[in-house]
Amino acid sequence: MGASPERIVVVGASLAGLRAVEAARKAGFGGPVTLIGAEDHLPYDRPPLSKAYLDEGDPVTPWFRTADHLTGELGIDLRLGTPASALDTASRTVVVGRDEIPYDVAVIATGARPRTLPGADGLAGVHTLRTLDDARAVRAALDAGARTVVVGAGFIGSEVASGARKRGLPVTVVEAMPTPLVRAVGEAMGQRCAALHRANGTDLRCGVGVAGFEGDGRVERVRLSDGTAVEADLVVVGVGAQPATGWLAGSGVTLDDGVVCDATLATGGPGVYAAGDVARWHNPLFDRPMRLEHWTSAAEQGAAAVRNALDPSAARPYETVPYFWSDWYDTRIQFVGVPTADEVVVVEDGSGAAGGRQVALYREGDRLVGALTVNGQSVIMKYRGLIMRRTSWADALDFARARREA
Ligand SMILES: Cc1cc2nc3c(=O)[nH]c(=O)nc-3n(C[C@H](O)[C@H](O)[C@H](O)COP(=O)(O)OP(=O)(O)OC[C@H]3O[C@@H](n4cnc5c(N)ncnc54)[C@H](O)[C@@H]3O)c2cc1C
Repeated sequence: MGASPERIVVVGASLAGLRAVEAARKAGFGGPVTLIGAEDHLPYDRPPLSKAYLDEGDPVTPWFRTADHLTGELGIDLRLGTPASALDTASRTVVVGRDEIPYDVAVIATGARPRTLPGADGLAGVHTLRTLDDARAVRAALDAGARTVVVGAGFIGSEVASGARKRGLPVTVVEAMPTPLVRAVGEAMGQRCAALHRANGTDLRCGVGVAGFEGDGRVERVRLSDGTAVEADLVVVGVGAQPATGWLAGSGVTLDDGVVCDATLATGGPGVYAAGDVARWHNPLFDRPMRLEHWTSAAEQGAAAVRNALDPSAARPYETVPYFWSDWYDTRIQFVGVPTADEVVVVEDGSGAAGGRQVALYREGDRLVGALTVNGQSVIMKYRGLIMRRTSWADALDFARARREA
């Protein structure tokens, strides 16, 4: 790349892509910036789609910015409704339809796609929940009073179940593992999450898989691996997502469950960076590669990738303590750090009291590496700070004791 880049192309017009183009302008970049999005929609926020957007009443679409702001004020060349089909790192172009758009800096921010289940193709009433169009379809079914089956007791599926229960609709959640979220939060806290479903009238069935869907053009029931069946008008499949990297085949960019990047989010392809759910980067704070599907890191990485790309000689590693939240019924669940722990200790257990706070800490070696709270909005960021400062396990337990006694 020459002394200073002249053209920026960002692929993926959602959170990470939006933050990338905004950061470019904020950094004083005045050249052409193209933002390419596969969806027809302007960038919008995804977390509300499985939360407030499903509530009764008039839905508020969570747009991030207006078209005027993006094209007028920021001067972005916005190309929506057409996916990029290839990246050529030799000629430094991105292919969109019949166009080959040249770049000096390219940011890959194509996010993740939901996994699906076999047997659901062409059957109306079976949805994943990733896009605004998905959310509109799920909402319409809830408005019609759907008997709802959620496949997968992960965060998004559990939020959909909460939304349906808020409306008083019957909901069954089918989870293949014996405990929900066991990989994300461990056994003890997974059990507590299961208890939240049951306390709110959701029929949670663990250790059971989906054997098939039945219905004539439209889903009518879900057959389960234990031989039972559940009647359903709406099925929401929430069995995880995979990075949207298909369009990068043959590009020379290294792919391994995401776009592989160094700590500065550089891919190794000249001028090519990645950000958000699609990026697997080296997180120096934990000294390991990570690919997160969390709002906060996607936003931060979009901005960090562009700043580093515009001035690679001053590039700064992106390090973070992962953070996400999820809203179930009237409860906020928050997690900071990593759940791959040698030990999990529940240090506060207010499960008996309505709205009671629960806190679990995660140990790796002699270091605090994770914290999960239920209704712990006032403490979670304190634990994030402890993890950021590489606090020892003993000191973390002391801190928790002092909080409990305060
Ligand atoms: C329903 C839902 C609820 C969530 N709730 C929470 C929450 O409570 N807390 C939390 O921390 N996180 C939550 N998340 C995760 C969070 O929204 C994501 O981490 C964030 O959206 C990632 O942003 P991104 O820009 O990297 O990817 P995405 O938001 O996935 O955007 C990628 C964009 O790229 C587009 N694209 C894909 N391929 C191409 C291509 N070839 N060419 C052009 N465009 C392409 C896609 O259409 C998409 O618009 C939630 C996600 C969902 C779906």
